[in-house]
Amino acid sequence: MTKHQGLQTRLVHAGELSPKLGGAAVLPIFQSSVFEHTPGGSYSDIAYPRLNTLPNQTVLGRKLAALEQGERGLVLSSGMAAISTTLLTVLKSGDHLLIQDSLYGGTYGLVTREFPALGIDVDFIDGTDPSTWAAKRRPSTRAIYVEAITNPLLRVADHRTVVEFAKAHDLLSIIDNTFATPVNFQPLTIGYDISIHSCTKYLNGHSDLVAGAIVGSGASIENITHRLNHLGGCLDPHACFLLHRGIKTLALRLNWQNQSALRIAQFLTSHGSVKTVNYPGLDDHPQYQLAQSLFSGYGGMLSFELRDGPDAAQTLFNRLELSLQAPSLGGPETLVTR
Ligand code: PLP
Repeated sequence: MTKHQGLQTRLVHAGELSPKLGGAAVLPIFQSSVFEHTPGGSYSDIAYPRLNTLPNQTVLGRKLAALEQGERGLVLSSGMAAISTTLLTVLKSGDHLLIQDSLYGGTYGLVTREFPALGIDVDFIDGTDPSTWAAKRRPSTRAIYVEAITNPLLRVADHRTVVEFAKAHDLLSIIDNTFATPVNFQPLTIGYDISIHSCTKYLNGHSDLVAGAIVGSGASIENITHRLNHLGGCLDPHACFLLHRGIKTLALRLNWQNQSALRIAQFLTSHGSVKTVNYPGLDDHPQYQLAQSLFSGYGGMLSFELRDGPDAAQTLFNRLELSLQAPSLGGPETLVTR
């Protein structure tokens, strides 16, 4: 990557092999779990998919790092593998984590159901109210963890203050950037230490795989990779190939999703049956100014409440013709979920 390359160029070209293998524009799938020793190499030079040595894995890692302006990137078998492997690398028994409330349910489940048995303490913070964070910090606090935009209320944490708070108290700042993607927000550029993605969503963008990614400094990704080698959540080469293909069109897809979600949010706001619409691109969203100062778009996710409650929601769902009633996000289909 050179500094003058824009995001669209990096999506296509960053991290690719040079020269290209056999001249192929598209990296072939290295569907092999066995690789011969390099003559003279040591045990630590062993190539093996779980050790993230496949070109399909390393090219994606470099591309993701270039997209978010990190030193190194790593792909994993799911967004939850990325979250759990990161947190289990930076936290040990006796440590304490500050984590945003109203998080993705899988992350909430990890820290509330798995961490107590591991001796890791957790306190929840309101990401939108920095005045409340200091009271929750302990001498054993090691990290602060937030999401770019929360699901399902679409709240926006005060990200610049999260970074300042982390630096002031020597904490690692970690963000799940799934909802924004590198197109709308590049968290490392404002000082976050580690950015995590569920690539299952926008980054792949075609509703046909599960994958995760982590981007950060060379040293932090090196540590996380060692832990990943033991925990085993590596990404399969065929899934790498699909993710690689999907990423190249991320900006085209996301810019469209930014626009269409904003139009739907504006339409719902003006509809008499709708009580509230949660979308950070609406000027009555509580963190609209903040979101404007951080993001270049607000993504394809929104939530809303109907005046007549859950029964009316079910009636609405029954009348929808094209959308699928399914969780997840980021693909070409419109999904709705209660
Ligand atoms: N982070 C966010 C914000 C999510 O919405 C999800 C899944 O919906 C995940 C992480 C977990 O990703 P995965 O399903 O790829 O493990």
